[in-house]
Amino acid sequence: MKLKFCGATRTVTGSCYYIDTGEFKFLVDCGAFQGKEEIDKLNYEPFPFDPAQLDAVFLTHAHYDHCGRIPILVKQGFNGKVISTQPTRDLAEIVLLDSAHLQKEEYERWSARRKNKDRDVDPSEEGSLYANRVPLFSEEDVQAALDLFEIYPYGASVDIKKGVEFRMRDAGHILGSAMMEFWIKTKEGRTRKIVFSGDIGQPGARIVRDPDLIREADYVVCEATYGNRLHKSRDETLLEFLAVLKQAKEEQGNVLIPSFAVERTQEVLYEINLFVENKIIEGMEVFLDSPMASKATEVFKKYPTFYDEDARRLLEKGDDPFNFPGLVMVDSAEESKRLISKKGVVIIAGSGMCTGGRIVHHIKNHIEKSNTHMLFVGYQVEGTLGRRIVDKQKEIRVMGNKLAVNAHIHTLGGFSAHGDQRDLRYWLRSFGHSPKKIFIVHADEEIAIGFGSNIRSELGIEVDIPKLNEEFELK
Ligand SMILES: [Zn+2]
Repeated sequence: MKLKFCGATRTVTGSCYYIDTGEFKFLVDCGAFQGKEEIDKLNYEPFPFDPAQLDAVFLTHAHYDHCGRIPILVKQGFNGKVISTQPTRDLAEIVLLDSAHLQKEEYERWSARRKNKDRDVDPSEEGSLYANRVPLFSEEDVQAALDLFEIYPYGASVDIKKGVEFRMRDAGHILGSAMMEFWIKTKEGRTRKIVFSGDIGQPGARIVRDPDLIREADYVVCEATYGNRLHKSRDETLLEFLAVLKQAKEEQGNVLIPSFAVERTQEVLYEINLFVENKIIEGMEVFLDSPMASKATEVFKKYPTFYDEDARRLLEKGDDPFNFPGLVMVDSAEESKRLISKKGVVIIAGSGMCTGGRIVHHIKNHIEKSNTHMLFVGYQVEGTLGRRIVDKQKEIRVMGNKLAVNAHIHTLGGFSAHGDQRDLRYWLRSFGHSPKKIFIVHADEEIAIGFGSNIRSELGIEVDIPKLNEEFELK
């Protein structure tokens, strides 16, 4: 049985793992690469396998770096099943359609500019991720991909093919996120178990449940996004969040929250809802300036059975955890532009890493003001505008303008959808000494290597940090 690493190797994006049992060929995730030019370019490379020969894709969750290349697979002849939970399917629809739309728009804008010989688009210009590129896929490709989905619940063992059994477990990362367990019969008649962690959530998150622990495996493929650090506690994070909201209101500055449409936004709304309903803050206007996040929030409202107890209890009391007095859903671009005159308000907008979308306009309008607060609630990939701001660059380039960063910059790690080093080690320890090998993926190179050597010495298990397209024979 072969296992090939086709993404998220020594980097955090592009998750894609190929398994060939001899009789059954499948992927776990087929996500897009995001970030620096040379990483983003990998989306245009041919797959190191034949998409038409694939039997299935097991999708751990709906983040773009896990599902973003599925429509490309379909375009190139893949006609098997895409297996996921129901929320993953619904959220992937939103994420993929949004991407197709964005790519088309960027490409048209760029083509028009070139035709008019206005000026060439500077590739380093923020917010032009797809500029100068032919779209990777269209809305039709996304529709064709959606037709291939097959839905399963957590916890059900399924014989997907003779000799291949799988089960999804709750990864506690975003709504519907799953870890994948596979039992595969070898030619010699022995059964080997491989576990893919997907992205592992932070225990104690409010909406999603805690990540499941798995007791046994022969091979584990484990993410390590935050393998080098410990998050601040939830309580500390909430106190900091509250202090920022109060200060901004007092100084009539705005709070900008670049947020991923799926999960981060709902977690942030959830906490503000509690502040407002419990009268800890009053009279604060909050603008959700992201039609995509509004759509994702509707999906969250559809699946309360996937919630943790905290969120379910609120619902039972009759409180909608994602709605409160003062919250305004901003739909049209016109309405978004009108926010420019607002003072002392909260604006939540995408994209989460400031690589495009409405947040870029808000940054342009407010980052130079010293009473502005920017709150980062999710991971910022190297090479993105968000990362440059988090890294405290004094000056940034936004939509062709050089801007001084005078705003207060805060990183609220307690909102992270990923477990930290302690959580990851805890999760891996639950396997005991059963694994023959642990593969570390989904982390920047230095972090993957550091975390890998910690695990090796702590558990005494062989660890590998695969390189892109590296292949392993699993015995
Ligand atoms: Zn994720």
